[in-house]
Amino acid sequence: MIKYDLKCKYDHVFEGWFPSSSEFEQQANDSLISCPICGDTDVDRALMAPAIKKARKKKSNNNKPVKVREAELYTKLRTLRNQIEKNSEDVGDRFAEEARSIYLGTSEERAIRGVTSDEEAEDLEEDGIPFVKVPWVDKTDN
Ligand SMILES: [Zn+2]
Repeated sequence: MIKYDLKCKYDHVFEGWFPSSSEFEQQANDSLISCPICGDTDVDRALMAPAIKKARKKKSNNNKPVKVREAELYTKLRTLRNQIEKNSEDVGDRFAEEARSIYLGTSEERAIRGVTSDEEAEDLEEDGIPFVKVPWVDKTDN
């Protein structure tokens, strides 16, 4: 059964139940449906505002979007890695030393990349030497 909101030509709105949409059309064409208020048989489906369901946050549906975001993040990080590799000199584990030298002006000013220990990074931070930590994603990751 289908429930339709119906309307006569005088804008009386009422409900009607029908076995199918074609059955409704058949009955409407044959003037078998009449308005319960005025008896008019010129009846059509009323246009009703669609019911808008509030989007529910379903925990079980969160897996997919998160994976998509992760993939995007990795793509961005890989792009970042490529850009850094293209635009900087790899100084390996001498990074802290080189960063300090550049900062002090004893080394040529240039973009460098490399690794530090946590201790070295803390020292750089304490001395106000600018550097950024970048999550170094594996190129073949994901
Ligand atoms: Zn009516």
